[in-house]
Amino acid sequence: MKAHPANLKYAIDIGSPPSLPVAGSDVRFPVGRIYCVGRNYAEHAREMGHDPNREPPFFFMKAANSIAQNNSTLAYPVATKDLHHEIELVVAIGKGGKNIPVEEALEHVWGYGVGLDMTRRDIQGEAKKMGRPWEMGKSFDESAPCSALKSAAEIGHPAKGAIWVKVNGVLKQQGDLAQQIWSVPEQIAYLSGLITLAAGDLIFTGTPSGVGAVRPGDRLEGHVDGVGDLAIAYAR
Ligand code: MN
Repeated sequence: MKAHPANLKYAIDIGSPPSLPVAGSDVRFPVGRIYCVGRNYAEHAREMGHDPNREPPFFFMKAANSIAQNNSTLAYPVATKDLHHEIELVVAIGKGGKNIPVEEALEHVWGYGVGLDMTRRDIQGEAKKMGRPWEMGKSFDESAPCSALKSAAEIGHPAKGAIWVKVNGVLKQQGDLAQQIWSVPEQIAYLSGLITLAAGDLIFTGTPSGVGAVRPGDRLEGHVDGVGDLAIAYAR
């Protein structure tokens, strides 16, 4: 894809791109697009009423400005009575490409974070029933809280380790990265066969079982071993 010339003048100002902090640094990671993998842990596929056999992975998107920052208090989303948490390992792409082979996929990863794929489950459920797109259930204001990112140069490429989320101190989702049906390199290979991946893209890599409702006033703490922690709260 062609880069934009630096001297373009725009009709209106839309500011800097959405971004995430880089842990232990004063630079930020600019967020291009957010891809999410559906049903990537067998137990979660089962709890959503699906057969967890290895069907090809499928993807949906959230708008880049759905990003919400770590340690923030968020407004409870509008238009839902069934907001769900989905704790996920987030992959930050540092180098784009298309048709990336599995064996080369990790060379395209800049780093990792801990994210929540917040979901208006009632809207998503209605869309599924009607055979309509999921976007309004998945991509909405502050629907993608994410921790500071850590570089692969610092932490390597986590392929196993605990992933969990607590709501108000109670453990709700717990799994292990090794339970992913499609590994991170496989996700990158597959996705880059569907679209050209670009530097700045994020991939939310799916959630273990135990998804459930979040209410106004709730506090969420998420963790991925070797990657970090995420804490957000919802206003009452
Ligand atoms: Mn998800």
